[in-house]
Amino acid sequence: MIEVNALRKSFGALQVLKDINFKVETGGVVALLGPSGSGKSTLLRCINLLVVPDDGAIRVGTTTFAFGPTRKPPRTRELAAFRSRTGMVFQNFNLFPHMSVLQNVMEAPVYVRKLPRKDAQDLAMAQLEKVGLSDRAHQMPETLSGGQKQRVAIARALAMEPEVMLFDEATSALDPELVSEVLLTIQQLAADGMTMVIVTHEIAFAREVADRVVFMRDGVVVEEGPARQTIDEPRMEATRTFLSHFH
Ligand code: ATP
Ligand code: MG
Repeated sequence: MIEVNALRKSFGALQVLKDINFKVETGGVVALLGPSGSGKSTLLRCINLLVVPDDGAIRVGTTTFAFGPTRKPPRTRELAAFRSRTGMVFQNFNLFPHMSVLQNVMEAPVYVRKLPRKDAQDLAMAQLEKVGLSDRAHQMPETLSGGQKQRVAIARALAMEPEVMLFDEATSALDPELVSEVLLTIQQLAADGMTMVIVTHEIAFAREVADRVVFMRDGVVVEEGPARQTIDEPRMEATRTFLSHFH
């Protein structure tokens, strides 16, 4: 599970997250929606501590980190251990271009988890199987479509066997015809019980796959609730305005 309490983050004078609270139950899927600049990416990055919050607390599973002016910043080792328990998938895949698909997926298990090569390879192949790309294991990333690259990026994140997965607009850089294969992969993960936060502009997908949605604007959570109900009948004007752009 993920729990975010009283989270605050500023960049210089710009307050980007203002007292954010939310929770994702184990096996839950939350879609994080909101206009550009509302703080969605910053919030995801705070959850895996790519961005260090100014104040508040983040819990993933049994580990909690609290932040604030009187608290010591977490140690690098603690940060790395915490981070490896959250898999993150970005808009632009970020695959290593000089490594094969299999090597991309094996990299973290070998160098971060220190698994023996054989075990890392078996694990990597199992994850590639899961995203339907085991037959592409020995290709180079440049020979794949955007949708396939993104599925490799998902397999690579899964190879760390994370407790939670965070998706930041994983389909935004894809040609429209490649979006659905990636959404299907995410949907399968949800069906397998993976705990996830998904930032997406695919509202129909969010409605389908998420059990809850959190709607942000200007660094605050404006509205939160069951996915279908909140998307179909938003209570807040800001949510209605945002959703009206998608109809
Ligand atoms: P989008 O839908 O466009 O991806 P978002 O909701 O993900 O937007 P964020 O990327 O979290 O929004 O950005 C929120 C605000 O914080 C923006 O005003 C952005 O310019 C600012 N911001 C984000 N990262 C930094 C940074 N490292 N330094 C300074 N400002 C930042
Ligand atoms: Mg963003």
